[in-house]
Amino acid sequence: MFRPSGTGWIEVICGPMFSGKSEELIRRVTRSRIARLPVQTFKPALDDRYGENRVTSHSRMTVDAIPISDSAELLRAVDDATLVVGVDEGQFFDEGLVEVAEHLAAAGKQVIVAGLDTDYLRRPFEPIPALSGRAEFVTKMLAVCHRCGGPGLFTQRIVRSDSLVVLGAQGAYEARCRGCYSNEEAEQPALALN
Ligand code: ADP
Ligand code: MG
Ligand code: ZN
Repeated sequence: MFRPSGTGWIEVICGPMFSGKSEELIRRVTRSRIARLPVQTFKPALDDRYGENRVTSHSRMTVDAIPISDSAELLRAVDDATLVVGVDEGQFFDEGLVEVAEHLAAAGKQVIVAGLDTDYLRRPFEPIPALSGRAEFVTKMLAVCHRCGGPGLFTQRIVRSDSLVVLGAQGAYEARCRGCYSNEEAEQPALALN
């Protein structure tokens, strides 16, 4: 990646669940680490799916990460010396993430944010769409549609009819292509997660 003197920039990695956003984030920050650039990776504190201090992909790639609760805390947690800032699950942050990312880029840092661009009803999932508008690089990831194998660009919430089945996040969502996504399925009341 080019690095003009003193200038930072923003990269967004977006798409549905299972599209490889976390893998791509891990790949980029790992390359920076190999290049001996000072890197810090962050994740929302509420996402403790794979343990508190790691970002982990569905394929079990993993990297150390610092849990933080909002964009103001992110700004405080980034060291002056850090050149590469990775953030996973950016959709769980407040709208202040856009301003914080721009502030970090203005301070000369490469800011990489991965996150869902739409929710399970296909609505824009802020702050990822707003951040994409301020990013030099936007990578749209596609999953494999769980139903037909086509290009999965949406996240479908699946409702199980057996109320005795306790749903975790795993098994509660599928990636779906344009043809297989169903509004009716999405709007059914969900069973309590967890
Ligand atoms: P995301 O962060 O976008 O949810 P991850 O990076 O965690 O995605 O996981 C991507 C990996 O998930 C793939 O490399 C593959 O091993 C696995 N995977 C499981 N289901 C799917 C699917 N339907 N489409 C693509 N990859 C899938
Ligand atoms: Mg992920
Ligand atoms: Zn499909």
